[in-house]
Amino acid sequence: MRQRAARDQQRLDSGAVTSPKDLENLQREITSLAKRQGDLEDVVLEVMERRESAQERVAELTERVASVQTRIDEATGRRDAAFEEIDAETASVTKEREVVAGSVPADLLKLYDKLREQQGGIGAAKLYQRTCQGCRQELAITDINEIRAAAPDTVVRCENCRRILVRTSDSGL
Ligand SMILES: [Zn+2]
Repeated sequence: MRQRAARDQQRLDSGAVTSPKDLENLQREITSLAKRQGDLEDVVLEVMERRESAQERVAELTERVASVQTRIDEATGRRDAAFEEIDAETASVTKEREVVAGSVPADLLKLYDKLREQQGGIGAAKLYQRTCQGCRQELAITDINEIRAAAPDTVVRCENCRRILVRTSDSGL
């Protein structure tokens, strides 16, 4: 378009066009081309502005993605560390249990496992101040008397929940 306008201007300046009508047409075309060029330049400016704002948005979103990714990485790291801790604790507790279970007579262990299954995972409970810590019931005085009279290696059980009772110095006997 610029070339065409320049060519028209050249023809106009050269004096080759002499007819007033042709001159007028040429002048009109030059004016119209200048106006279209102006319009197109406005469009180009607008497109450039929009591209700039889109680039800013892209940069902003890229930054946010990076920040979220950092948080994901941190959380994943913490989760993995927690998994490792849990695994180590499980291994250690499992080993401890094996050692303890190895020292318990087979029939008592069998009873304990059966009770544990029946009683929501707790097969034995501490007797604390005459109260079974498994079912939280205070034992009747007759049961306390029986437990008091029982030999230390006798397996005593809660009359209420049937769990194995573990006697200690806090048992209130
Ligand atoms: Zn009980």
